[in-house]
Amino acid sequence: MDATKILVVEDEPDILELLQYNLKRDGFTVVVAKDGQAGFDAARREAPTLILLDLMLPKLNGLELCRRLKQDELTRSIPIVMLTARGEESDVILGLGLGADDYVTKPFRPRELVARLQAVLRRGAARDGAEKGERLEHGPLVIDLKRHAALIHGEDAGLTATEFRLLAFLAQHPGRVFTRDQIINHVLGVLAAVTPRNIDVHIRSIRKKLGEERELVETLRGVGYRFRELEA
Ligand code: CA
Repeated sequence: MDATKILVVEDEPDILELLQYNLKRDGFTVVVAKDGQAGFDAARREAPTLILLDLMLPKLNGLELCRRLKQDELTRSIPIVMLTARGEESDVILGLGLGADDYVTKPFRPRELVARLQAVLRRGAARDGAEKGERLEHGPLVIDLKRHAALIHGEDAGLTATEFRLLAFLAQHPGRVFTRDQIINHVLGVLAAVTPRNIDVHIRSIRKKLGEERELVETLRGVGYRFRELEA
């Protein structure tokens, strides 16, 4: 099995050295980039398993790099863990909104950092499994990821492309609630000309097309939407 490759984007030599030492000791392959632009190029070239991204970077700051990585076809599905200084909470929230998976605040304990990376990698592996599977089945509803179709009792529900992506996204994370903004970021990309209100319209249309299975898409008032977790 190939070693898991971590791209570390960090400009401070001391922290870089600490990260390299600890990640290598734990069996990771480490690639480094010392500014935002180099980080973007390395992400596209190296296809790392995970990106550890400092927010304060020369040339291209960490948030802008995060935004670009999540918009690029080659890099958008690579999990990102942000490295932040104390007092950067608002940047953390922005970064999570852009699609970063987690963050670690400096100064960090190397052991804790590695544990956080491993948790994100486990979540990614579970998600990849669902994405590689061709179908998601929830009772009479079958979501055919290869054909981009949702079937109810074997009949095509007639979802539009956007509706399908939205439903498939929710169904891949059953039981997890997503805000309208998160749905826009994950499903449509941050630049999409879509408002939270549009998401409500899509959801209403999906429910109508699901007919008797409409209850699978649940509304959490004041929060967002989730796909119902079926009891085993
Ligand atoms: Ca820095």
